Amino acid sequence: PMPTLAVVGRPNVGKSTLVNRIIGRREAVVEDVPGVTRDRVSYEANWSGRKFMVQDTGGWEPDAKGLQQSVARQAELAMQTADAILLVVDAVVGATATDQAVARVLRKSKTPVILVANKVDNERGESDASALWSLGLGEPRPVSATHGRGTGDLLDDVLAVL
Ligand code: GDP
Ligand code: MG
Repeated sequence: PMPTLAVVGRPNVGKSTLVNRIIGRREAVVEDVPGVTRDRVSYEANWSGRKFMVQDTGGWEPDAKGLQQSVARQAELAMQTADAILLVVDAVVGATATDQAVARVLRKSKTPVILVANKVDNERGESDASALWSLGLGEPRPVSATHGRGTGDLLDDVLAVL
């Protein structure tokens, strides 16, 4: 079976946009309103001749109780079922309480976790990415899912652990 890369994080950080970037197609639904992605959806991806599955997550109602718990639950499922995990954070917003709660879960992960600092659309955003070292998940990888900035380097790092 193909290895699976799970993409987790709170709503609106750009998970589905990043998934589309990784698969090279616009299949994952991107929305300005959080909560549109179905619970977990997998897509086939191919990078440098390696095939793998990318799993988008989401599906929380905007008014759902315990958003933090829902995101943490997805992270726990990913730890049990995926071969590598991308935790996506909005570098412009910075680490929220939900991001910190998910990071706390993922710090215990035996499955490799790569911290993605998304929405770094230009060089000026690099310092926003560095601030995410505070999450305790190692080096934040700055990317712009919409522009493709940094995503090639990110995927090289993913293949190294997948
Ligand atoms: P998800 O809820 O985590 O799946 O987030 P989406 O992929 O649906 O994106 C949420 C919003 O963030 C949309 O308006 C996207 O266009 C925007 N977005 C995603 N990635 C980036 C990025 O790299 N830069 C900027 N500026 N906006 C982004
Ligand atoms: Mg989504």
